[in-house]
Amino acid sequence: MKNKEIIESLSKEWDSFYLYDEETIVENAELLQKHFTGIEFLYSMKCNPHREVLKTIFKKGFGADAASYGEVKKAKALGVPKEKIFYSAPGKTYSDIENALKEAIIIADSIDEIRRISEIAEKNGQIAYIGIRINPNFTFDGDFCGFNKFGIDHEQAVQFIKDNPFPNIKIEGIHVHLRSQELSAGKMMIYYKKMFLLAQEYIDLLESLRYVNLGSGIGISYSLEDKPIDLDSLGAFVRGELARFKEENPKTKVMFETGRFLTCKSGIYVTKVVDRKISCGKTILVLKNTLNGFIRPSMEQVVGLYAPEKDAAPAEPLFTKKNGFQLIPLKSEGVGQSAKFEKECVTIYGNLCTANDLVMKDVMLPHLEYGDVVVITNAGSYGAVLSPMQFSSHEKPEEIFLTKEGKIIC
Ligand SMILES: *Cc1c(COP(=O)(O)O)cnc(C)c1O
Repeated sequence: MKNKEIIESLSKEWDSFYLYDEETIVENAELLQKHFTGIEFLYSMKCNPHREVLKTIFKKGFGADAASYGEVKKAKALGVPKEKIFYSAPGKTYSDIENALKEAIIIADSIDEIRRISEIAEKNGQIAYIGIRINPNFTFDGDFCGFNKFGIDHEQAVQFIKDNPFPNIKIEGIHVHLRSQELSAGKMMIYYKKMFLLAQEYIDLLESLRYVNLGSGIGISYSLEDKPIDLDSLGAFVRGELARFKEENPKTKVMFETGRFLTCKSGIYVTKVVDRKISCGKTILVLKNTLNGFIRPSMEQVVGLYAPEKDAAPAEPLFTKKNGFQLIPLKSEGVGQSAKFEKECVTIYGNLCTANDLVMKDVMLPHLEYGDVVVITNAGSYGAVLSPMQFSSHEKPEEIFLTKEGKIIC
């Protein structure tokens, strides 16, 4: 296991903590930049806004995909310039808009919101340069128009632009995001192809676009059976499409945004066994801070109650898929060591006063006791931010960052 000695030494000080590894984040950022040359990247901050994580990613040249005004402020505080902070979220308040107009590029999510932006701009005596989020008339799985909480239906957007009701609004860009966690390069290619055509349609309508954000979608392997997305083919395809698009539209910036690809695998969640007992002949282990520290393993178990036999549909970002992480006892790790530990069948819970903090049921693990350390993988995205850490007033897990040089930042 990577960083085993560091985990061991940190777990002497902390009972439960996240460890984010700069090296992995940088590798993933470079992997994307290598495959998608010519594309500009935004980081979807909501998946992990830890300060050091953000600093690492912004240092690689990523802009910010901010999902709230709070994220706009965080990006700004770390020196990201206004033109690289894209604030795209549903339900912005007047004060969100008022503040963000100065600090970010606002992507409007509805026509009603554009009206509010226009009012504020008028009051300030300014033109508001904005982007709009489009709900296109295609989806990942078919060609029909899909009902969607996000964005403005394509037909409505087209009509709105033709009517041009707000003279102090200038639309300079479009944003689409339809899906996360896609592992099929083929499906992504079809999506990107449609997106380049859509962008061209808006360019024809508006005469120009300064930027087009094609959204996210690039998935990662969560379970051991997942085949990683074929970035070689996808990259080659996108570079080809981009070259064609740029021939016609050399000034339009083309962007991807991504969250989990950069951070999910950079993070682990480390916790400890805090009890062991037998009930009706079955062994139970209790871990510290699971549902309330890293919720996703317990979410899998909740989903499993309703879909016990089959795969369940994802409910991002709370639930992606079953077996979406691995639980590794630290003491079983190391060259040729695992054989030394005889395995037993255990069921693992957290230490909350609810039985729904189930982590794993009837799994074979080496004998573990009070104080033994376990590592849970795939914890770098939608982990700490999603977990209900106030529940039961337990001590919160620490979030710890490991630099490339081996420095620990708490
Ligand atoms: C959350 C989010 C993302 C990030 O998705 P990942 O699957 O983590 O890459 C991208 N775009 C939008 C609009 C989002 O809301």
